[in-house]
Amino acid sequence: MGKDKWKCRLCGQFFDNKEMSEEHYPARSVGNEDIVALNITKMFDSFQSKEMQERIGNKLSAGEGIEQISGDIFDNELAESLYPDGRTARTLCRKCNIFLGKYDEAYLKFFSLDGDAKAIKGFSQNTKIYIIKSIFGKFLSIPEAKNEEFDFVDFLKNDLETEYSGKWKIYFVRRDFSSDLMGMKDIGTGKITFEEGVVYELSDDKFIYNLMNFDKHPCFEMTNLFDILKKNYKLIQGVGSDGGYHAQIFMTRLFSELI
Ligand SMILES: [Zn+2]
Repeated sequence: MGKDKWKCRLCGQFFDNKEMSEEHYPARSVGNEDIVALNITKMFDSFQSKEMQERIGNKLSAGEGIEQISGDIFDNELAESLYPDGRTARTLCRKCNIFLGKYDEAYLKFFSLDGDAKAIKGFSQNTKIYIIKSIFGKFLSIPEAKNEEFDFVDFLKNDLETEYSGKWKIYFVRRDFSSDLMGMKDIGTGKITFEEGVVYELSDDKFIYNLMNFDKHPCFEMTNLFDILKKNYKLIQGVGSDGGYHAQIFMTRLFSELI
């Protein structure tokens, strides 16, 4: 195979550069537009500065909420435009990108209704399976997983397949103040390795997803993505006080940026 050939992560075939497409991960419609990154070094400096502490203090005494204050600081001072057109990867051929697009359409319905169990209950089984496949499909494109051979590719390739019995699981939580440092949403991707296996992360404006090849640690409360097929499921809000996998992956990235 020539060096200038790209392998599609779904069909496994090789293509010229121009036959590949730019896959958005997560989808553009769920927050992947003009991605900003938190300037970590600047954040530490500014929160230690007296001037910043006074400004926050003044706003608090004027009755502003801490979420509002930190959100404003993030947007106006600490965010740097990283991917103005959204974050993409050249991981799928055009045909496969279009094919996965129909799963993403189903996911957008889930996203728009905030994953609310009462609303999702009314979706057809087919739509629910598409929602699940959309998330599995996004993990094909994250850079941290580019050398991973996933056993769910056939499950995704066949839109009629409703069962997956491979080794990978996806757990998720709804974002809240506990999941986002100072209320700043970070939709970066990541990877962390445990003795039991590996955990990948992908998130959008509303949810944080972890793909892993072992049963999650019981101490971390998260919803199993396949639970959305049930009549009722409990949507876990936030990552809890210990921060879950999200905090560990975030901290790992944070330190690698600081070094
Ligand atoms: Zn393909």
